[in-house]
Amino acid sequence: MTTQRLRIAIQKNGRLSETSQDLFRQCGIRIPHGGSLRSEAQNFPIDLLFLRDDDIPQYIADGVIDAGIVGENIVTEKRPELRIVYRLGFGKCRLSLAIPKGETYSGPDWFNGKKIATSYPNVLGRFLTQNGIEADIEEISGSVEIAPGIGLADAICDIVSTGSTLLSNGLKEVESVMKSEAVLVTSQELSSNLSVILEQLVFRLSSLRHAQENKYILLNAPNDAVKDICSILPGMKSPTILPLADSGWSSVHSVIAEDEFWENIDKLKALGAQGILVCPIEKMIL
Ligand code: ATP
Ligand code: MG
Repeated sequence: MTTQRLRIAIQKNGRLSETSQDLFRQCGIRIPHGGSLRSEAQNFPIDLLFLRDDDIPQYIADGVIDAGIVGENIVTEKRPELRIVYRLGFGKCRLSLAIPKGETYSGPDWFNGKKIATSYPNVLGRFLTQNGIEADIEEISGSVEIAPGIGLADAICDIVSTGSTLLSNGLKEVESVMKSEAVLVTSQELSSNLSVILEQLVFRLSSLRHAQENKYILLNAPNDAVKDICSILPGMKSPTILPLADSGWSSVHSVIAEDEFWENIDKLKALGAQGILVCPIEKMIL
């Protein structure tokens, strides 16, 4: 009997491709190199397919593939009924409305009676309806930013991350329609065998994510400060405290969220912490 394999699509070439492939590698899944559009992982029951991002939601909905890594913007536009199983935290951007720099923007009403160029007619259409705006949507598949400059539309709705492309095309961002990041999506109807494989993958991805968001911290502290220091460093269960060779001192080991570390470093020093070491964590199993 052949064991079932989960077919997962990732973007072939583009902003999400490298990070998507790195994720599998960091999860310990070996994907053989080569120029082919399909690759069987050697030590995990998945097959990777390399596709254009726009096609991934459709293929999942049709049952040609089981899951994919794609921008939430594409999922919401093409197949909002798909199930987002895990948010991956990269490829962050937003879908925004932008108008020519010289225009005075009064609020969403500005768009009434205007023509808006976009590759996201469904998401934009829903936004306009929710805001009671009547505007024409001009669907184009790329280079949306030049539409106002060449007289094709009055405004655009497109993906923005830093806003520099808008500025260089004489546009300014005025409304954010949706936020997006890369997500792992699947169809609503996976067989139980495939669901188990998907859960194993999500488990590995989340261990990786927790590890990236946290740091292992070691410090030396006078014994009478250990209790207060531990209240700042709660750790996964509780901190490890080991006596130092010097009497009256302990070594405290714990885990701290990277964001919290910078907020708490001064407090730890004020309590007498010395020799603070902060180390990366490779995997973190909760
Ligand atoms: P394909 O050839 O696969 O259709 P594409 O040109 O449509 O690729 P990319 O530009 O590679 O797509 O972007 C892929 C995804 O990356 C976007 O759908 C979005 O989710 C995300 N992304 C993050 N930042 C940006 C950005 N600054 N501009 C465009 N997309 C971004
Ligand atoms: Mg695309």
